[in-house]
Amino acid sequence: MRINDDGDQSNIEDRRGQGGGGGGGGIKLGFGGMVIVGILSLIFRRNLFSTLGGSDGPSNGSPAADSQRDPASEERAKKVAVFAFNDSQRVWAAETPQQHVAYRPAKMVLFWDETRSGCGAADAQVGPFYCPTDEKVYLDLGFFDELAKRFGAPGEFAQAYVVAHEVGHHVQKLLGIEGKMRQAQSRSPELKNELSERLELQADCFAGVWGHSTNDRRLLDPGDVDAGLKAAASIGDDKLQKDATGRVRPEKFTHGTSEQRKKWLLRGLTSGKVEDCDTFGATSF
Ligand SMILES: [Zn+2]
Repeated sequence: MRINDDGDQSNIEDRRGQGGGGGGGGIKLGFGGMVIVGILSLIFRRNLFSTLGGSDGPSNGSPAADSQRDPASEERAKKVAVFAFNDSQRVWAAETPQQHVAYRPAKMVLFWDETRSGCGAADAQVGPFYCPTDEKVYLDLGFFDELAKRFGAPGEFAQAYVVAHEVGHHVQKLLGIEGKMRQAQSRSPELKNELSERLELQADCFAGVWGHSTNDRRLLDPGDVDAGLKAAASIGDDKLQKDATGRVRPEKFTHGTSEQRKKWLLRGLTSGKVEDCDTFGATSF
């Protein structure tokens, strides 16, 4: 992928190096062994993020914080993230007025290990997420290493897809989709997970809509789309569950299977149209 960024940092909050909790009295959870980490992060994800934000990272396994930090590769990772963030916001700023909604930029917070968000404390464990309360995307750059090493999805377009998916959640908020979905969830608790899947798959499709635009502008290299699809497949609920517990429990799905995630990302990539991302209207998804 060609990184074609003007270096605009106006919507970026770089909190790396500030220490935990965004500067003052950070929340130290004192994680011990791996098992405790897994259990705590499950609780963490459910309690803090399911209702308000909805984490997009895997909620089990080794924290990104454990990975070796190499300043050069981290700077490159930041460049990719900032480009994907700014560029996708530019694309959406042109798109949402066609949906009769003015675009309001989100911010992206880059952090190490832990920080605070409008949806509660965040740490590297929860993975990237969008918080609708403060309209910010939270990203620990260590997640990109995880994506490459643990999930077998390397490549800058894979990283960009993750960021574009989070921007997709912001677009869902602006278009009122997220609000309606939360209302539907409280009306019909039995559909909570299915509605969450539809929301997540639409964010994948929206990431694809952005990808379509980058392809139009000849920013993609051969193999980029495959890298993105591989990333989408690598974080499907079925795969994450199987890796974590050896079992697949569809009733616990909140983001969609590997196949579904690939399908909707590809749909956005192919069509480039918001209308084709109607995961809520689709009878089967
Ligand atoms: Zn998501």
